[in-house]
Amino acid sequence: MKRLVYALFFGLILAGLVYLEPTLDLDSEVLLLTLLFTTPLVLVLAGVMSARYGRTGVSSILVFVGFLYALYLLPGGVPRDREIMERISDALLLILPVLMVFFTLVPDRGYGSFWGVVGLFVLGSGSLLMIGSGVLPAVWTPLGVFTRWSPSFLPSEIGDFFLQWDITVVQGMVLVAGFLALVGITLVRRRDSRWMAPWPYILLAFVFGISRMDHTGVLLYWVNGGLLFILAILIHEGWMDAFIDSLTGVLNRRALDQRLDRLRGKYILAMVDVDHFKAFNDTYGHEVGDQALRMVAGKIAAKPLPGKVYRYGGEEFTLILPRLSGDQGKDVLELIRKRIARATFTLRKGKKKVPITVSIGASSNTNRGKSPRVILKEADNALYKAKQQGRNRVVFTKT
Ligand code: GH3
Ligand code: MG
Ligand code: MG
Repeated sequence: MKRLVYALFFGLILAGLVYLEPTLDLDSEVLLLTLLFTTPLVLVLAGVMSARYGRTGVSSILVFVGFLYALYLLPGGVPRDREIMERISDALLLILPVLMVFFTLVPDRGYGSFWGVVGLFVLGSGSLLMIGSGVLPAVWTPLGVFTRWSPSFLPSEIGDFFLQWDITVVQGMVLVAGFLALVGITLVRRRDSRWMAPWPYILLAFVFGISRMDHTGVLLYWVNGGLLFILAILIHEGWMDAFIDSLTGVLNRRALDQRLDRLRGKYILAMVDVDHFKAFNDTYGHEVGDQALRMVAGKIAAKPLPGKVYRYGGEEFTLILPRLSGDQGKDVLELIRKRIARATFTLRKGKKKVPITVSIGASSNTNRGKSPRVILKEADNALYKAKQQGRNRVVFTKT
């Protein structure tokens, strides 16, 4: 669901860029200079970020785009020859979708790993193919024949359809295949920290530019657009690293501390602690314990939830429920407790079902003089009582 919203959001931004393009004078000196300047800036920024996050796939695509930029615009690059430009752009329309699908598909384990080496090889061959098709007839001729090939089994309407954008049937089909593959990867990769939704649009943005490469302003406009999407992915990733707990996917302690500093008005704070979790770990092992923690986090965060869940640390979670009265809060917490107690945890091995329960302590700030951290301490004391009273229960501090 969230992915769909992101996908829609980025689709709208792309549509905005498409709408904006003809309204801009992309030949104006000022705009050209600005784009010439921002492209390497964004490239370097995104490059540094992806390198620091260990995203070799993203880095590779950026290296390729950087290479293209250097080739196209720096002195000593490709001669400004119309025919050479056209060949490079034609080859790129085939190479880029393949590169992008490859780098979003393969596991990201750094350049030293097997896939890293294969990635470097793919990157190298892609670049050579791009330059080669521009300047060497031996490279271009077979590629050109392939590009111009029109499969006879396809109705001619398809060719006409692609022709509107100045691309051949083969290029169009590679593009559609690449686009669909990227959409597919976005939908299938559920537990990937990489934020996938913008990738299909990045491909489109680059293609819009490359297919009209003879127009510097248009190329730079779209390369910048694609790069900004990549930057958005990286910024989101940085945000995830900073505020999301990587094991359970709920907000982390840092996010909680920040929220507690700003909490005002009426709210309920609850501490949730898994019962006898040490024994669970000792019996089934730490790894199964981790799976159980994910399950519990998922059950606490399940919608609808009138608040937010944070991993306080270990097997303890903190819930912040704003604007709820004590009674409403009790109902919500009781519901969460029951949901977990009912959903027994199934071991992958042997399909054995193991019950898991949580104890919850809660407090609300009816006395407005108290700080959120004092309320949290009260919730923790209530949790202690819940444990003493036999666990698998909710205890509210008396106010
Ligand atoms: P109680 O019912 O009183 O809460 O008993 P307990 O065993 O849950 O309490 P205790 O605080 O002694 O133990 C918490 C255990 O949680 C200890 C540790 O092994 C386990 N734990 C903490 N963090 C993690 C984690 O990230 N993964 C796993 N698998 N276990 C964790
Ligand atoms: Mg504990
Ligand atoms: Mg515990």
